[in-house]
Amino acid sequence: MKSDRSKIVGYLDNEFSIFIRKRDGIFDENSREYIGICITCDTTSALEAGHFIDRQHMQFRYDPKNVYGQCKTCNEFRKGNIKAYKEKLIKLHGIELIEYMEIARRKPFKISNRELSELLKYYKRINKRG
Ligand SMILES: [Zn+2]
Repeated sequence: MKSDRSKIVGYLDNEFSIFIRKRDGIFDENSREYIGICITCDTTSALEAGHFIDRQHMQFRYDPKNVYGQCKTCNEFRKGNIKAYKEKLIKLHGIELIEYMEIARRKPFKISNRELSELLKYYKRINKRG
């Protein structure tokens, strides 16, 4: 049986992914997908929520500056297309933030179930705004 924590993380991953795809794309009624421009290859495509710093690093897993709409090819087959991703994020946010993220991901980081639940509520609320 799934633990409470893995259930919360599952719901939160789903809600956060919707938030990213809505932010970066437009909902297409026919395909039921969010369509937009891939952050790393600039093609117009059905978007997935692609992470720059890997999802295993919880401190950036739900950080809107670390996650953008990405095509399936870049996100899955090119394993995030990280070199292009980094160049794009440097343009968007500046080199200091990206260097900070690369250092901070190695620090131990704990997030409680309660904090995860609050993030879940937060992204649910934003997604309902339409
Ligand atoms: Zn792409």
